[in-house]
Amino acid sequence: MSTSVTQVAAYAAPAPKAPLERTTVPRRPVGEHDVLIEIKYAGICHSDLHQVAEDWGQALFPMVPGHEIAGVVTAVGSGVTKYVLGDRVGVGCFVDSCRTCENCLAGDEQFCASGMTATYPSAPDGSATYGGYSTHIVVDENYTLRIPEGIALDEAAPLLCAGITLYSPLRRWNAGPGKKVAVVGMGGLGHIGVKIAHALGAEVTVLSQSLRKQEDGLRLGADHFHATSDPETFTKLAGSFDLIVNTVSATIDLDAYLGLLRTNGTLANVGAPGEPTPVGMFSLIVGNKTLAGSMIGGIAETQEMLDFCAAHGIGSEIETIAVDQINEAYERLAAGDVRYRFVIDTATFATR
Ligand SMILES: [Zn+2]
Ligand SMILES: [Zn+2]
Repeated sequence: MSTSVTQVAAYAAPAPKAPLERTTVPRRPVGEHDVLIEIKYAGICHSDLHQVAEDWGQALFPMVPGHEIAGVVTAVGSGVTKYVLGDRVGVGCFVDSCRTCENCLAGDEQFCASGMTATYPSAPDGSATYGGYSTHIVVDENYTLRIPEGIALDEAAPLLCAGITLYSPLRRWNAGPGKKVAVVGMGGLGHIGVKIAHALGAEVTVLSQSLRKQEDGLRLGADHFHATSDPETFTKLAGSFDLIVNTVSATIDLDAYLGLLRTNGTLANVGAPGEPTPVGMFSLIVGNKTLAGSMIGGIAETQEMLDFCAAHGIGSEIETIAVDQINEAYERLAAGDVRYRFVIDTATFATR
């Protein structure tokens, strides 16, 4: 157990929009309730690109992105009770919260009234947090997740953000047997949504721009696959779905998608376009429809998701890269050229 700040290898963006480069960043000493995690894999989430580009407002630099972390515990603080050396663990989008507000007590730590401490970029008490594109991270055991044996660590990493992002709305709006669920967008988020909705027992439809990924969609568990570029899709499927989960971060025609819901249906959004999206109120009023949003999930629900995915053999479809391929991966991800999640193999810090 280390008692001093340690410098660890990482990939960081030195300034907004700058290419990432190899550097070192400090990790705090392993405190009483901390675990030291040797990071094995880190997923590249689309929000990493947004953060580096400061699309969501001013951020902190140098920035080490990465909130889809999978690794192994290599040291524990004296007060740690949940983990022992060698445990397989994960870290998602946040690493701390106040633990006492209404939302924290309800298990919705992501909405902590004082603001959760993001895995990156965040600066609680003035010291910056650095994400998972790195060899090690120190995290409080209460904000660390257990990765069950049923999932390989590389395929588990993207579940820590993409997995919970889809699992939470699918559970909240009761995706399951007898329910017709549509997933809009067949990317890093959508493809995991298809797997989870299928495992929950729902009848799953993918609504994708084209039929290019149809074969993958059906292989991953979809029962149907339709192209949204074909206007007939919207007449053919009118009034069909109990739940639509929209993973697309571009603006969509909300009225058209609301028209695909059955009475009392819900359109839940997890993709966030930068611009406001207009909606006609009659699209909601007629049929008692709900337009909703969902943001990741709390610690307990994230653990539930990992346990569910392990029990059902669900991992992310991944393309593994070396650390020196991160910038190329960013370009490809921005162009939508990945099936379906880039995962950094951090062992390549030692070899590249
Ligand atoms: Zn993410
Ligand atoms: Zn709180």
